[in-house]
Amino acid sequence: MSQPLVIYNTLSRAKELFEPIKPPFVGMYVCGPTVYSDVHLGNCRTFISFDLIYRYLIHIGYKVRYVRNITDAGHLEGDNDEGEDKFAKKAKLEQLEPMEIVQKYTLGFHEILRIFNTLPPSIEPTATGHIVEQIEMIKEILAAGYAYETAGTVYFDVEKYSRKYSYGILTNRKLEDLLEGTRELSGQDEKKGRLDFALWIKAKPETLMKWPSPWGWGFPGWHIECSAMGTKYLGTTFDIHGGGMDLQATHHTNEIAQSQACHHAEPVKYWVHTNMLTVNGARMSKTAGNGFLPKELFTGDHPLLDRGYSPMTVRFFMAQSHYRSTLDFSNEALQAAEKGYKKLMESIKRISKIEPAAHSSVNIDELRASCYSAMNDDFNSPVLIAQLFEAVRVINSAVDKTETLTRDDIGKLNALMQTFVFDVLGLTDESEANAGGDVINGLMDLILDIRKSARENKDWVTSDKIRDQLKAAGVEIKDTKDGVEWRI
Ligand code: AMP
Ligand code: ZN
Repeated sequence: MSQPLVIYNTLSRAKELFEPIKPPFVGMYVCGPTVYSDVHLGNCRTFISFDLIYRYLIHIGYKVRYVRNITDAGHLEGDNDEGEDKFAKKAKLEQLEPMEIVQKYTLGFHEILRIFNTLPPSIEPTATGHIVEQIEMIKEILAAGYAYETAGTVYFDVEKYSRKYSYGILTNRKLEDLLEGTRELSGQDEKKGRLDFALWIKAKPETLMKWPSPWGWGFPGWHIECSAMGTKYLGTTFDIHGGGMDLQATHHTNEIAQSQACHHAEPVKYWVHTNMLTVNGARMSKTAGNGFLPKELFTGDHPLLDRGYSPMTVRFFMAQSHYRSTLDFSNEALQAAEKGYKKLMESIKRISKIEPAAHSSVNIDELRASCYSAMNDDFNSPVLIAQLFEAVRVINSAVDKTETLTRDDIGKLNALMQTFVFDVLGLTDESEANAGGDVINGLMDLILDIRKSARENKDWVTSDKIRDQLKAAGVEIKDTKDGVEWRI
């Protein structure tokens, strides 16, 4: 028997037994991307980590409602309500409508996550689609007395809130310490307190994305969207809230405050945070400009890369470290991951070569239990992978007949590999996909050969028919002096 699932809760700074509020249902909210630029590999790490968590919760039988939002409005450059709106800035730069920016990068985000074989969330709500819910929530916070309006902008009153609740609870910080790290207010400030943050921001004449509200035209602050959408789809208190660690101190701290002030209840039972992907020790971020785009990683077109790596190599590379550890990016680590990934895939294919024996020399049930123990220990994927490599050793030894397995155990071993490698770790066998590519190449060679013969025989009807029907099927062919080129 493996131990029950425990999850590290940022709130208690300890591993806790996972007991959902209403089993078998689990509500999980993860802060999604701000879609004003391409997602970098660091963002991908966070979403791939939560994909693993989502997959495992489903695998062990939970009915998970996974909500991951798209931030498409209200995110200013600075986390403390300062700076330009990220979308407006990019829109000006690219001479596009802000919603064109949103569309462009949302599509790019989906495409990348599809390439990494992540499962789509159950609901993917957008901030712009929930302005009404955000306004309603702000009204409730105002009515409860934890916010105030100044000239069309509504601020959350952190000091007032702190008289009843602990504002720094998530990161275990006292109000005094938080105040120390913040700049003094100037005479110009509309805020009453240094830690107060905007729930609603008054639009300037040049603001592009704005909505009418009881406080005039404006737009929501960044944090209120997650409180409003989390509540709408998962209830006032739900099971898991996730995001990268960089969101703890401000975004998630403010989310807790908003929800508590509005509903007088703790919004989340387990706060789960992923650690950062780093490059030479520094956090990968859009602002720092040290971000790799997944595309650059696949093609190898980046000064820090020796060559390209496949999406599943990258996914495997990420699974090799625990989601709460930092993961440093290096060519050597990626090369090792590529070897490991290929070894895993090859060994799965070798299972069919094992000859059944009368007795097993290895206990497959124990091996299976240790895979569950690894994942039940706060989703420990590196330990799981170590167990899977023990399975690889068993497979290779059984093929070489230095270990023996019964027919029943061979079946169990196959099921174990299918479950953990494909369903839980979310890997796919790229050599199979490439085999699909080989088939297409072979078919195209055949078709183009027939067309060539037709042209040599001046059979223009057949030759044109081949070209036109390929075109209708989405394949374009071009005659060049070096032969025929084709592309899908
Ligand atoms: P953003 O689009 O910047 O709002 O970030 C989307 C998600 O990616 C958030 O959950 C961030 O915490 C996470 N994230 C940003 N940078 C990194 C990084 N270097 N490593 C891991 N996660 C990150
Ligand atoms: Zn959020």
